[in-house]
Amino acid sequence: MKEILDHAFSTPRRGVVKASEMIFVLLKQFQTVVTNFLMAKNLIKDAMQCSHCHQEMDLKPSKESPERFNWRCLNAKCIHYQSTMTLRSGSFFQTFQAPMLEVLKTIYLYSK
Ligand SMILES: [Zn+2]
Repeated sequence: MKEILDHAFSTPRRGVVKASEMIFVLLKQFQTVVTNFLMAKNLIKDAMQCSHCHQEMDLKPSKESPERFNWRCLNAKCIHYQSTMTLRSGSFFQTFQAPMLEVLKTIYLYSK
């Protein structure tokens, strides 16, 4: 990921859209790539327990979440059955209102 971003920022191209803008447009379209990357780097959890029944929650698609997925309790015996948690719960990203990709973009641009 770092190499992809470095390449995008260091290689000016001719055209309407700058490469540095294009990479974030592409990453936004492939949100699952970003999510998988963040899980692989342990920046967000790759497993979540329901805070009520302590069973493993399932990762389910979500139209409301900017990450397009959220954690859902599927324990039918739980009093909070079908309750959800965001992917950013319990992570560095939890305190931010902006989508994780925007936070990553800000950190990357600030670190240059
Ligand atoms: Zn539960």
